[in-house]
Amino acid sequence: MTDVIVVGAGVVGIATALQLRQAGLDVLLLDSGAPAAGTSSGNAGAFAVSEVLPLAEPGVLRKVPGWMLDPLGPLAVRWRHLPGLLPWLARFVAASRPSRVSALSRQLAGLLGRVNGDVAALLGDAPPAGMWRRWGALAVYPDEASLRRDLPRWEERGRLGVRWEACDPRRVEREEPALRMPWRHAVAIPDWSHVDDPYLFSLGLFERFTAAGGRFRQEAVAELTGPDGAVDGVRLASGEALRAGNVIVTAGVWSDRQARQVGQRLPLESERGYNLTLPKAGLTLRRYLLNAAESFVILPMANGGLRLAGTVELASRDAAPDFRRSHILLDKAQAMLGPLDTTGMTAWMGNRPSVPDTVPVIGPSASRRNLYFATGHGHLGLTLAATTGALLRDHLTGGAPVPEALWPTRY
Ligand SMILES: Cc1cc2nc3c(=O)[nH]c(=O)nc-3n(C[C@H](O)[C@H](O)[C@H](O)COP(=O)(O)OP(=O)(O)OC[C@H]3O[C@@H](n4cnc5c(N)ncnc54)[C@H](O)[C@@H]3O)c2cc1C
Repeated sequence: MTDVIVVGAGVVGIATALQLRQAGLDVLLLDSGAPAAGTSSGNAGAFAVSEVLPLAEPGVLRKVPGWMLDPLGPLAVRWRHLPGLLPWLARFVAASRPSRVSALSRQLAGLLGRVNGDVAALLGDAPPAGMWRRWGALAVYPDEASLRRDLPRWEERGRLGVRWEACDPRRVEREEPALRMPWRHAVAIPDWSHVDDPYLFSLGLFERFTAAGGRFRQEAVAELTGPDGAVDGVRLASGEALRAGNVIVTAGVWSDRQARQVGQRLPLESERGYNLTLPKAGLTLRRYLLNAAESFVILPMANGGLRLAGTVELASRDAAPDFRRSHILLDKAQAMLGPLDTTGMTAWMGNRPSVPDTVPVIGPSASRRNLYFATGHGHLGLTLAATTGALLRDHLTGGAPVPEALWPTRY
């Protein structure tokens, strides 16, 4: 019998499976598709360690009407999805109470504060370690007034342990000469890091997993199996039953299907995000760039490529993408960096698996023994993948238990 079945080979499932295998367990990773081919393939490649503030902030309710009215705004809600979204939105608004925000911020800071150590321990010197770039990031602003308006948020992040520094225009020009006027006001985030290509990075981890004796099968899981009170394996869509000592569900935004099957409530919604990848943009950046006001980031890829990514669209996970959301990022990036070569440009949409209180769900099921969930990573799936795997490895191998505040029992 397999020690652990991991359902879902996105970056969270792969990083978890790899660390369990490295701890000596027999691990079978299952995915209905190819490894790392879903949301984890097209993200913005950042280890976003400064994102310690939850998405729901005090006063968020006042912003909802604006999200409804501008379908191309940085955060948009599709009207047709609104009735189904209401329970999630209600929890989102509840999470924006000041007392909740400060508790959630502390939890996020606890997780994000250990990310660089967990990634370093996971990667060591072997591939894909070479594409982990610890260059830091610049959060840029078009004028001093907008930087000043955002300073209270940076001060709050600082109180939670994030290192940051406001930069004057001369320093910004030195740190990232590619930035055009007026984008010369910035906050430097030295502990931020990124990978050249999140798909190749996740695939590199997957290759490490199989080289270490981990097993993978490209099969869809139809259901969890087991007598009352426990899970003892999974049944595949083909009908085949597979037995395991433990099952970990890392199926991204689709994890709620397995949860429902065992009576577990997981408030998961898709925060859909878009990218525009310019493989020959013709610009080599020295820093990862964040445009907070317009809600997108710029990832320096290998060989002068750039990926523009971000925005949030609350819509059904199965609705057709609106690629205008990708293409509007081009004008915004060109305003910051000047003309970019669009040869070979591609647009992409992915489903961020998001819970209303931003903190991911990691830990044992409330209703079944031997069943675990690791999902709801939202904007931070790549960032927190190594940490999630380390937490579950320690929990399952009798080291430290996963902190209860992260468990699905909180819903
Ligand atoms: C535009 C955009 C930019 C982003 N930028 C960043 C960033 O810079 N940094 C960051 O940290 N995060 C970022 N994210 C978020 C990040 O991509 C996600 O949080 C992360 O990919 C989630 O990983 P996952 O492994 O949980 O899910 P997924 O990658 O979605 O993987 C889940 C897997 O489960 C499989 N699966 C589902 N159901 C079944 C089943 N029944 N049987 C078998 N397999 C199943 C699916 O096929 C899929 O492969 C971004 C997201 C978007 C959309």
